[in-house]
Amino acid sequence: MNVADDKTVVRDYFNSKGFDRWRRIYGETDEVNKVQRDIREGHQQTIDHVLRWIEEDGNVSDLTICDAGCGVGSLSIPLAKAGAKVFASDISEKMVGEAQERAAQELGEAQSNVSFHAQDLETLDGKYHTVICLDVLIHYPPDKAGEMIAHLSSLAESRLILSFAPKTLCYSLLKRIGDFFPGPSKATRAYLHPESYVVKILEEQGWKIDRNEMTKTRFYFSRLLEAVRA
Ligand code: SAH
Repeated sequence: MNVADDKTVVRDYFNSKGFDRWRRIYGETDEVNKVQRDIREGHQQTIDHVLRWIEEDGNVSDLTICDAGCGVGSLSIPLAKAGAKVFASDISEKMVGEAQERAAQELGEAQSNVSFHAQDLETLDGKYHTVICLDVLIHYPPDKAGEMIAHLSSLAESRLILSFAPKTLCYSLLKRIGDFFPGPSKATRAYLHPESYVVKILEEQGWKIDRNEMTKTRFYFSRLLEAVRA
């Protein structure tokens, strides 16, 4: 399968079955099973780490932020609430539509701090103080991850924050078992990436790793890296 096909599959998934699944997981309602609730909690920890880092730095309202692959706005909405100017985009129109609805409900006046766009992150342009891309690399095969990270780097002036499912022996086995018993929701391929590989790409793009976190629950695992200009 080539990347264009991979992307079409991903977009179609997040406009249909995937939208339905992830809208619930990235929400607050009880319409989730135990596994989904665990993933919800893990993902929220990733979001909370990022918000904590940004708030610790203390200049939130001066920041321009690009949230690439924003999903339903789980990160963009609290960032806009905190005063950052956020450009959020996602390849799925449905995810973007849901993000817009949530922003309208949750943000009041701060809604003007965020705009949502249905766009492939590789077509984004402009410059942002900070570029953030959470849990999207799982949709990129290893040979395309480099190009994607290079593109995000070109948009980021001071900081790039990425999260991805790290490829370790243990998680590779877990994933194999998952592939072996595919549930109805497993409509897309999932790619794990070795942390050393992602770090190498970032270093080649002129970044150095500043802060680093790992979030692990039973069914969710994500390595979070903050890269700053070397
Ligand atoms: N970053 C969000 C959503 C993660 S789910 C969060 O952490 O809450 C992964 C999202 O990536 C999905 O909404 C999917 O539509 C989006 N996505 C996948 N490939 C993409 C691409 N090439 N460009 C933009 N968005 C993409």
